Amino acid sequence: MPAATLHVVATPIGNLGDLSPRAQQVLREVAAICAEDTRRSAQLLGHFGIGTPLLALHEHNEQQMAERLVARLLAGESLALVSDAGTPLVSDPGYRLVRAARQAGVRVSPVPGPSALIAALSVAGLPSDRFAFEGFLPAKASARRERLGALAGEPRTLVFYESAHRIDESLADLRAAFGDERPAVLARELTKLFETVLDGDLASLHERVLADENQRKGEFVLVVQGVGEDTDAKLAEGRRVHAILAKQLPPSAAARLAAEITGAPRKALYGGGSGE
Ligand code: SAM
Repeated sequence: MPAATLHVVATPIGNLGDLSPRAQQVLREVAAICAEDTRRSAQLLGHFGIGTPLLALHEHNEQQMAERLVARLLAGESLALVSDAGTPLVSDPGYRLVRAARQAGVRVSPVPGPSALIAALSVAGLPSDRFAFEGFLPAKASARRERLGALAGEPRTLVFYESAHRIDESLADLRAAFGDERPAVLARELTKLFETVLDGDLASLHERVLADENQRKGEFVLVVQGVGEDTDAKLAEGRRVHAILAKQLPPSAAARLAAEITGAPRKALYGGGSGE
């Protein structure tokens, strides 16, 4: 008998046709499937006529379940791990179980497939040779702004997950931290009926989201271009200098001087949407 394996299986992020034949086979053959929300996964499995038993594994019971699951694996039963949608462990539970299995010497093997992160990056048309996945921004405004402040000088493309009820606030905070002109792509409801991929700069994306209620519905991935070596760095520096000068000078004079000092375009500093 081959050694037991913990299979980490990606599932669709919207379109059920994206469950690969190998994923179906593995889910059919394992002794049990660990799922974040068993009711949701039961619907997916039902669609494919897969009757494998489901076990709940979520962030609140993962630590305690991990031990029991590893015992089953060591006893020779293969298991699968799925999340509600996409790839487990990507802004989803599972790393404690995977770590426990690996530490116990159990084979852990991926069945790769959909992930909103990669799907969004693949259609964004922004530099993608290097990128940084930031997951969800903090829910609290102060923590969110602090995080964005720390990321404003990041040269790699940034990828964020966002939900419908915070997309407006997050875009507003991104504009304040990164500037209105930063190129970005908002990918919504990927692989679903109302899939939309909007591109432009942060200001235009935010305005489109505010103007159309439908653009605030569903699930989002926001892909934001990193700071370019030349223009963006100048702009960031111009904004910093402008903010200091504007404490003592009228905004237009502060913008003129900040532009002269840093080489940033004056127009982008004066009324440039930094919220100052
Ligand atoms: N593990 C999943 C993956 O690999 O994509 C992500 C799970 S995370 C809890 C859920 C978030 O992923 C959503 O809030 C949204 O930001 C993003 N997401 C999931 N499905 C999506 C879709 N079809 N279109 C756009 N974003 C999606």
